[in-house]
Amino acid sequence: MSGKKVKALLESSSHVVAFTGAGISAESGIPTYRGADGLWDKYDPNKVADAEYFSLDPAYYWQFVRDVRYPALRDAAPNRGHTALAELERRGRLRALITQNVDGLHRDAGSENVLELHGNTRRIRCLDCGGGYSLEALEERMRGEMPPACPDCGGLLKPDVVLFGEPLPEETLQEAIRQSRSCDCFLAIGSSLAVQPAASLPAMAKQAGAGLIIVNKEETPLDAMADIVLRDSASSALDGVLER
Ligand code: NAD
Ligand code: ZN
Repeated sequence: MSGKKVKALLESSSHVVAFTGAGISAESGIPTYRGADGLWDKYDPNKVADAEYFSLDPAYYWQFVRDVRYPALRDAAPNRGHTALAELERRGRLRALITQNVDGLHRDAGSENVLELHGNTRRIRCLDCGGGYSLEALEERMRGEMPPACPDCGGLLKPDVVLFGEPLPEETLQEAIRQSRSCDCFLAIGSSLAVQPAASLPAMAKQAGAGLIIVNKEETPLDAMADIVLRDSASSALDGVLER
């Protein structure tokens, strides 16, 4: 049905920007937050994604990383949705990939111009000495102590992600806004489009005259504004886009 419309919109666009959320990684076995089977049903978002709570009880957050996040990340590989976006970039059809995901799977799939708005869970920082570590390198430590201490100074470690109450990385956000305002086709994939300020990017693109395509399994608050809504899984919708 919308296949022809998607094809026409993509063919008439020279500057395509993609924007992804947790839905695109769901098929890689990483649970989403909202939506069916979302993490929020089992873990309190006020605790595991909140900066203030992290400083009060870092062990609670680190247990969530050790028991839920790390096992999912360690076993995850990019799926057809990730690889389709990398292929679009290689073909010169995709200028930028803005993501809210913190799993690093877009880079694993080969995407290069990736703007990570919420950081990356696989990078760990020491809040005391500033040292950087990979999550894998801390596996032993996570099993032995909670929260794991910095291998160099014994200080408090935190994954390099943006928690509620923290600002987004300014340069990355500005670049994402610039890309959204200057593209002629904006492809939003697998995001509930519910978290600000990231969710305002599709609206910004639309207001600046771009065509808006939304791919999501469930309704989003921006569906009414979109030119095309594909109520489909990210991998099957992006496979279709590649073919066109
Ligand atoms: P979200 O969990 O709010 O929404 C995900 C959406 O994807 C839901 O509306 C759901 O219906 C849809 N969906 C589920 N499976 C899908 C599939 N196979 N194909 C297409 N759509 C599918 O995610 P969000 O909008 O990215 O929320 C933002 C916050 O969640 C961000 O802060 C992000 O950092 C964080 N987050 C990241 C990850 C990750 O890195 N993989 C995982 C969970 C949450
Ligand atoms: Zn340290």
